[in-house]
Amino acid sequence: MRIVLLGPPGVGKGSLAAMCESRLSMRHVSTGEIFRQEIARGTLLGRRVQRFVSSGRLVPDALVVQVMAAQVRRLAGRGFVLDGFPRTAGQARGLDHVLRRLRRPLDTALYLTSPVSTLVRRLGGRRVCPRCGAIYHARNKPPRRAGRCDRCGARLTVRKDDRPATIRKRLAVDRKQVRPLLTYYRAQGLLEVVSGRGSVTASFARLARRLRRIGRRRGPRRAS
Ligand code: AMP
Repeated sequence: MRIVLLGPPGVGKGSLAAMCESRLSMRHVSTGEIFRQEIARGTLLGRRVQRFVSSGRLVPDALVVQVMAAQVRRLAGRGFVLDGFPRTAGQARGLDHVLRRLRRPLDTALYLTSPVSTLVRRLGGRRVCPRCGAIYHARNKPPRRAGRCDRCGARLTVRKDDRPATIRKRLAVDRKQVRPLLTYYRAQGLLEVVSGRGSVTASFARLARRLRRIGRRRGPRRAS
């Protein structure tokens, strides 16, 4: 299946998309993760996006679409779950354009929801591994050894954009940007709303159920 996961920062897109990869064999592509890796490596792309990412502003559509088009072309035949893209109607149109040329339409746009208070709490406690990208939470999912990644042992960090002032800016940017995107996918009959409340396991169970239902509705012709 080819799906996009939509929803505010902190709703759990990253964790749920990772579970789609490990349990449903879909390839997980995170725009934010690609940008952070490019920044860490000091590439040309990393230098171009750095000021946007570290201040919580959106990277311009043309640049994001260019980066994601390459990923989508590579994975369209195998199926993917896009996490953090598209963020604007312009990006959604860019994605459609690429998929139309490949004759591999999107199966669904899943919008995850959660109360704002939960989002702020989750984002404030997030700790990430700068080396392998693993995600932890100071309270809900702490590493086995304080401050160290379970997978690779690197020292965990707080993302620059997970600081309180930046969190509020990211949520405000997201609220403004998401409406036209929801309208866009609703008009195509592709929008599905799924609750991201409670544990990641509970949210994943809801999401997987919904995907099975969509798969049955679309039929075997669209299973690839
Ligand atoms: P995320 O990890 O998805 O929260 O993304 C972290 C940051 O990367 C965002 O605050 C933006 O600066 C940038 N970013 C990620 N995805 C996009 C996108 N689709 N469009 C524009 N900027 C993005």
